[in-house]
Amino acid sequence: MRVKTLLITFLLSLGSTFSYAQKINVKRVDPPSWWTDMHDHNLQLLVYGPRISETHPVINYRGVQLKQTIHVKSPDYLFLDLVISSATQPGTFIIHFKKGKRDVVQYTYTLNKRENNPKLHQGFDNSDVIYLLMPDRFANGDTTNDNMPGMLEKANIKNPNGRHGGDIKGIEEHLGYLKNLGVTAIWSTPLMEDNMPKYSYHGYAQTDYYKVDPRFGTNRDYRNLVQEAHKKGLKVIQDMVFNHCGTNYFWKGDLPTTDWYNRWPKFTRSNYHGGVVSDPHASQYDYHHMVAGWFDTSMADLNQDNPLVANYLIQNSIWWIEYAGLDGIRQDTYPYPYKDFMANWMQRVLQEYPHFNVIGETWFSYPATVAYWLENNRNADGYHSHLTNVFDFPLMMAINKAFNEKPGWDTGLARLYEVLSQDFVYSDPMKLGIFAGNHDSNRIFSTLHENLKKWKMVMAFLMTTRGIPEIYYGTEILMTGEKSKGDGNLRKDFPGGWPGDKLNAFTPQGRTAEQNDAFNYLQKLLNWRKSNKAVQYGKLTHYIVENGVYVYFRTYKGKKVMVLLNNNDKSVTVNLTRFAEDLKGFTKGKAVMTGKILSQLNSLTLPAKSPMIVELKK
Ligand code: CA
Repeated sequence: MRVKTLLITFLLSLGSTFSYAQKINVKRVDPPSWWTDMHDHNLQLLVYGPRISETHPVINYRGVQLKQTIHVKSPDYLFLDLVISSATQPGTFIIHFKKGKRDVVQYTYTLNKRENNPKLHQGFDNSDVIYLLMPDRFANGDTTNDNMPGMLEKANIKNPNGRHGGDIKGIEEHLGYLKNLGVTAIWSTPLMEDNMPKYSYHGYAQTDYYKVDPRFGTNRDYRNLVQEAHKKGLKVIQDMVFNHCGTNYFWKGDLPTTDWYNRWPKFTRSNYHGGVVSDPHASQYDYHHMVAGWFDTSMADLNQDNPLVANYLIQNSIWWIEYAGLDGIRQDTYPYPYKDFMANWMQRVLQEYPHFNVIGETWFSYPATVAYWLENNRNADGYHSHLTNVFDFPLMMAINKAFNEKPGWDTGLARLYEVLSQDFVYSDPMKLGIFAGNHDSNRIFSTLHENLKKWKMVMAFLMTTRGIPEIYYGTEILMTGEKSKGDGNLRKDFPGGWPGDKLNAFTPQGRTAEQNDAFNYLQKLLNWRKSNKAVQYGKLTHYIVENGVYVYFRTYKGKKVMVLLNNNDKSVTVNLTRFAEDLKGFTKGKAVMTGKILSQLNSLTLPAKSPMIVELKK
């Protein structure tokens, strides 16, 4: 018997250049570790290694039961369904991959103890302001990781679509800056490995869901960033992408199953019409192309209808929440994966972390299509997403037009009123993420033709209307960028983030007078917002836009804030009697940004193109 085995081994070693003859081994187990006391006791391990399916796994660890071993088409995978009972103690155990009674391979797996900290996984809400940054473009804290062995794309700061070297250390070094600015949460675009030859800087073609890209740092660096952010009172939201992975994912050329990706006879793009998913009149043809078409040639469309794929993604998100201590997730291209899978995922996340928040990229022009994806929404087809938050793209589009237009029946600031007046379609409009721009759209200062007065009105509006504000990095220093000049133009390096930068806009000395004006304005606004529950949680009452002036109130437990936006080129005196129902009981006010005391509430004069935020007093 033994001689025979040796002979086979010898013969196999002769043919080792052929994949079928590779030595049985374990190259990878996902998730790489787990925890003992999770709400859900099930864990499915993906085991990858040459011919591993020829073995049968055995686990001897008290509390851990190997319920099922799943074989798939590729001989190089096994899926292990484990049940981890609540009595299981943290520790390591060996997975014995056996042939007969003999161990062919052993793999040591770790079950950790969960960190029992009530300050973790708290989610985010209307008291937060989210700062969106692109790690490759924010700050380069470690130039030694700009190029890393095995990573296909090298740094080239001169290429707007190339890697510029920003990293986790760069973010960590500027946590103080962000805290000082007054934001409360950081959403970084993806940090996971994106080992694609081009455009890898944006991170949306991830090639390892379990590993931070070494050009950004390590998993440990990321966890440390979260801890340091928490110490400063800043939350961290991770960007995840379930719709697609980079075509260079480790399973490239050796997919577990033939349906791991959505397959087409030849490359087929998504039609990008996310609305067909909720459209009661949509054709199957359009629906299928929407969800099963590929986002890009470099981005393989994952088939979440395959339960093994679904488990892989769900466990990955839970692994990161638990491992890094995340506060929230922003999920990319929300309508593109199968919607029932997304609902299952959300339920699983909320089962484990009841206070957690996930905000979906719901890029639609109309409130109704956005509303379809928000939890508790009453949809005619009965779909319930369980998604806690969605991004308000219709309001973003309105903001980008409103301040550049002359007042009209439905133009100018009336656009803001019109969009908000449709809030009845949302189960809870307070759950919307509101923003003037992100990494995919024109920078707001460019949209506003670099008009600082308009910019202040936009910031005042964002920080005082309903929803959870998000600002895109560099907005505070009036960075410019236009989509027509390419995505790289929207994602320029933050001045001062790179060693040798001539100006350091992270400091007042490195900013122009105009930039300091903007920064100071936003800083004051954000820090005031932190202390004012009326603008965070208050009921919104707004009034029809008249003469280019939009007026609204936020009311919370007897506290009230009045906001007036004058988008006219001249100063306007506003008669306040129209707002009597909101002003009732108040006799004076304080203009928040100027500190000016308003001794009467009969009329107010607003300078040309200016906002006024008033804390009302009894
Ligand atoms: Ca770097």
